[in-house]
Amino acid sequence: MKIICIGRNYVDHIKELNNAIPSSPVFFLKPDTALLIRNRPFYYPPFSHEIHYEVELVMKINKVGKNIQKQFAHTYYDEIGIGLDMTARDIQDAAKQKGLPWAIAKGFDQSAPVGKFLPKAHFADLKNIDFHLDLNGKTVQHGNSSLMMYDFDDILVHISQYMTVRTGDYIFTGTPAGVGPVKIGDKLEAFVEREKLLSCLIK
Ligand code: MG
Repeated sequence: MKIICIGRNYVDHIKELNNAIPSSPVFFLKPDTALLIRNRPFYYPPFSHEIHYEVELVMKINKVGKNIQKQFAHTYYDEIGIGLDMTARDIQDAAKQKGLPWAIAKGFDQSAPVGKFLPKAHFADLKNIDFHLDLNGKTVQHGNSSLMMYDFDDILVHISQYMTVRTGDYIFTGTPAGVGPVKIGDKLEAFVEREKLLSCLIK
């Protein structure tokens, strides 16, 4: 199983981090050891002092695919959920400055909490899925799939040119604006269409 994450898929978030709008989807990987499931707590890692949350819609791959064509892309996933692309922003900023990879900043243990999934049939329109993240009961990020520059199908078409997707892979589809730091004792709760699918305590 692998975890593929799209970076820079919402214009408002690109602006908040002063990044350029990409001409094709930017993506990176997290190892399977990043996965955190069943609402288990996230333990603040000792090597960072600036861990940020990034709430993202997540698609779960249901079959093997390579060079997926747009018209068939929708058949490669049948569940949508929500996850947190936990990021060591201090380490990422240092890596960006030096032109170094993001492996530590994005791929450390537990950096991918993932919640419950909903069948695609649950949604009236995949291009209009509302989601939000609460930090200690206050909404800090709000997104809608209509605001993605590259939709679920576009993402699969792009990634599968380079990497075969397999059953059980997760694809994080990018974060909207509002990312920010967490501290020990915080509680993160992520919702899709007002249904709470993920809860994560920072320990
Ligand atoms: Mg992200």
